[in-house]
Amino acid sequence: MTEEQADKPVAYDLIAIGGGSGGLAATQRAAEYGARCLVIERDGKLGGTCVNVGCVPKKVMWHAAEIAQVMRDAGNYGFRVDEPVHDWAALVARREAYIARLNGIYDRNLANKSVDWVTGEAAFIDSDTVRVGDIHYTAPHIIIATGGEPVVPELPGAELGVTSDGFFAMQTRPQRVAVVGSGYIAVELAGVLSSLGSDVDLYARYDSILRSLDPMLQQAAIAALVNHNVTVNLHSVPTELQSGAAGLQLQFENGSKGSPVDTLIWAVGRRPLTEKLGLDRAGVAITERGHVKVDRYQQSNVEGVYAIGDVTGQIELTPVAIAAGRRLSDRVFGGMEGRYLDYDNIPTVIFSHPPIGTVGMTEPQARAKFGDAAVTVYTAGFTPLYYGVLEHKVRADIKLVCAGEDERVVGVHIIGQSSDEILQGFAVAVKMGATKKDLDDTVAIHPTSAEELVTMR
Ligand code: FAD
Ligand code: NDP
Repeated sequence: MTEEQADKPVAYDLIAIGGGSGGLAATQRAAEYGARCLVIERDGKLGGTCVNVGCVPKKVMWHAAEIAQVMRDAGNYGFRVDEPVHDWAALVARREAYIARLNGIYDRNLANKSVDWVTGEAAFIDSDTVRVGDIHYTAPHIIIATGGEPVVPELPGAELGVTSDGFFAMQTRPQRVAVVGSGYIAVELAGVLSSLGSDVDLYARYDSILRSLDPMLQQAAIAALVNHNVTVNLHSVPTELQSGAAGLQLQFENGSKGSPVDTLIWAVGRRPLTEKLGLDRAGVAITERGHVKVDRYQQSNVEGVYAIGDVTGQIELTPVAIAAGRRLSDRVFGGMEGRYLDYDNIPTVIFSHPPIGTVGMTEPQARAKFGDAAVTVYTAGFTPLYYGVLEHKVRADIKLVCAGEDERVVGVHIIGQSSDEILQGFAVAVKMGATKKDLDDTVAIHPTSAEELVTMR
């Protein structure tokens, strides 16, 4: 570094700290409006959690798990197939090669839009200057898009377990696995491992899993895991992880012990990456859990400093980080005054087996908001036609939650084959304020699972 560099920070119109879903989306949109943008990414590759250790590698593993099931089903469809052998390391190699290609595509996308990016850990010097090593960068607009990292509970022996990051680093499939947690990651990783042949124990603290979802989905998700040979252990509060000759073993609050396993995965949530950002030097306020406090415009308490994505502790999904980032740049650089992301009715899918899709209010939420008398609920349970010729059946369940005299659809909850793909269109309908009659008036597509949503009585 020269004296000149230290004295004169490099100036931009917009800096994003974090080259993940949010930071990349915001800067590219701002660049389209002519802003000079910089992305600072500590990892040396672009894409963030979603591309490197999240959605993308997870979905590849989910597809592998689905293929394993289809191969088991193939015999009932008349195919003569030998017992399939799965090569985990070969899949991981292809998955990582795909991710490396994506990293390159993200790099070229930034170059095509003339967005600069540097590798390094950024920290604030003041509210409009950050440093990376010895170089200072300044901008009137700085977006904190640093995402989060998996939590490892503070228990004796916890370091013997791995997190979702460790799952993606595995070069071989462990035979005996314990998954601790009851959210998205616990359910998804338990399903993948079990489908590919591992013996999986899932441990949840309370009397259910996926507790933010509609109760119908919670019950159906447990049944689906059990149907997939996952042992679901409820009321299991871990207090210690021990290592012995038989393997790793969990101790629980009630004195019981888990089965010995080769690998334990902590899937107990994620924490925001704000600790090392020097937010105090910029005067940026955070919550008790370390998330950056923002208003509906993603604006922090400091003028010109914003936060988007997982670091805000709102809905932790890639399309949410992207949408928040694009809308922020539309507002700040695109002249779209008042533009912001509406966090209501955001659809989401849990890539379980079968997948779960959900948008809008759960039944209890709707009852609490509108009152019992104003809420009408429609449910359907069925076995998709695909399973008609199979010995191994997997159910589908659907719930529509409607409110008011016109029965506006305020919640759609699906577990079943293809619900991951079915949900998107119904999310549009919910966002537009569709009523039950609108669904009834739509002619079904037959034979599909989706048709059940427009034929419920
Ligand atoms: P991130 O993508 O995490 O990006 C933040 C970036 O900031 C990182 O690259 C980090 O290295 C960098 N950084 C942090 N601190 C600094 C610093 N001081 N200086 C410079 N750089 C820094 N969402 C979905 O919608 N669908 C899914 O199927 C899905 N599956 C998931 C599966 C798993 C296993 C996980 C863990 C998450 C999954 N998610 C999924 C969630 C999704 O990955 C996140 O919501 C999304 O990545 C958030 O984007 P972000 O930009 O806020 O943060
Ligand atoms: P989640 O917040 O979804 O779930 C973690 C759960 O673990 C908690 O809800 C809690 O459930 C339980 N838990 C917390 N602490 C403990 C503890 N000490 N011991 C045992 N259980 C504990 O976090 P995830 O890590 O699964 O995922 C993080 C986020 O990433 C998700 O919320 C989601 O937004 C996103 N994601 C999205 C995916 C998708 O779109 N398909 C896939 C994966 C992640 P309880 O209170 O019931 O015990």
